[in-house]
Amino acid sequence: MSSIRVRFAPSPTGYLHVGGARTALFNWLYARHTKGTFVLRIEDTDRARNTPEAVRVLFEGLQWLGLDWDEGPLPDGSVRGDRGPYFQSERSAIYDRALRLLLDRNQAYESDGAIRFRMPRKKIVVEDLICGEVGFDCTLEQDFVIQRKDGSPVFHLVNVVDDLDMGISHVIRGEDHLSNTPKHLALAAALGGTAPRYAHIPLILNRSGSKMSKRDLGASLSEYLDGGYLPQAVRNYLCLLGWSLRENRELFSIEEAVERFELGQIHRSNARFDADKLLWMNGSYLRSLSPQEILPHAERWLESAGYPTGKWAPGYLQEVVLLVKEKVKTGKELVEWARPFLEEEVRFQPSAVKRFLNPDGIRALRELLADLSAAPDFAPSALEARFHSLAQVHGTSVRTYVHPARVATTGREVGPSLYPTLTILGKDRVLQRLRRAIETVAS
Ligand code: GLU
Repeated sequence: MSSIRVRFAPSPTGYLHVGGARTALFNWLYARHTKGTFVLRIEDTDRARNTPEAVRVLFEGLQWLGLDWDEGPLPDGSVRGDRGPYFQSERSAIYDRALRLLLDRNQAYESDGAIRFRMPRKKIVVEDLICGEVGFDCTLEQDFVIQRKDGSPVFHLVNVVDDLDMGISHVIRGEDHLSNTPKHLALAAALGGTAPRYAHIPLILNRSGSKMSKRDLGASLSEYLDGGYLPQAVRNYLCLLGWSLRENRELFSIEEAVERFELGQIHRSNARFDADKLLWMNGSYLRSLSPQEILPHAERWLESAGYPTGKWAPGYLQEVVLLVKEKVKTGKELVEWARPFLEEEVRFQPSAVKRFLNPDGIRALRELLADLSAAPDFAPSALEARFHSLAQVHGTSVRTYVHPARVATTGREVGPSLYPTLTILGKDRVLQRLRRAIETVAS
């Protein structure tokens, strides 16, 4: 282990914002790159919001992204590392000691029942590893409260006390905290400690160019967890919100990111959140997965959509998943596309029925039904040959059969390639569905 010690210090709010996830990721990348230590510290001094559920959401998000920590609390209630667990709500003795020290040194004083810190009135320069030298004129700065009237310590105090106590060498956090840093430097100096180096990561902007907030679509990590995204795709995308490989390549492995990650390369300009790009990236990760890799993900998505996967032979599910994964971008879509293979009843899209199960379409289905009933071989290539010769016999194009057949067997206008779809469904189900479509529409 090197002497580098970084921390992710979230306040549990009940959800993990993509900005927070990115902060965690950058800390983790830096720790792994430098063979340092990654600490998880829960800043839960706000009692109103401090619920076990809110902390669980943090654990869940970090674990899903694969960001393991070396010190701090674990979800099962145990502690990683030989110190911790680092819940600020459990560390009041440490903050009391720091307050007493500041009072004794006359760096703090009581006023109206609260305790205020004597802020030095001077210019303070933050030497930020990302933003460069940033000067703050604190000559008019007010002394600020570090302990409220009710005895609770304020964020600035606990944040700095903990960074010193935990030997944090680098504070990597969102740029929204840059303006707090003069206060933090002053507190660290008053406590007689060596302040960590600071690295403030630029903001994430939404589509309209303002700071991405809780209310923006796609702002919460849980949307990706529940929406059938792959953690490796989300992680890759989060890397790009402020960092890049510096070559024209956006898809890279986490190992590559660990190897190449440098704080000095984090961009100074704000990052723009692009949900479409993340979607694209997810699709491209999905397509690149091998059958063995994709199956556990697919099973999880199917299970949570209400399809007990134990019901099918593993080989069958695998065939279905491999067929549909070529064209879908998320697990949610994958479930939609897989439905016709997992349900007996076809769910017809009204628009598809209207467009392709018209009188012409039904006539085509009747011809197809007669033809396929006699098919000895249901392999994709054999089916393709039959569709083509059928079209030739009737002097029409193969599309005349393909579209109605897709709607009849899957209910959908767009879907995976038709011939392998029919092969996987198998002759019995295909003939049955063709018949049912003809009856349903004809009646
Ligand atoms: N609890 C603070 C936050 O979530 C931590 C700030 C910091 O990393 O120093 O914004």
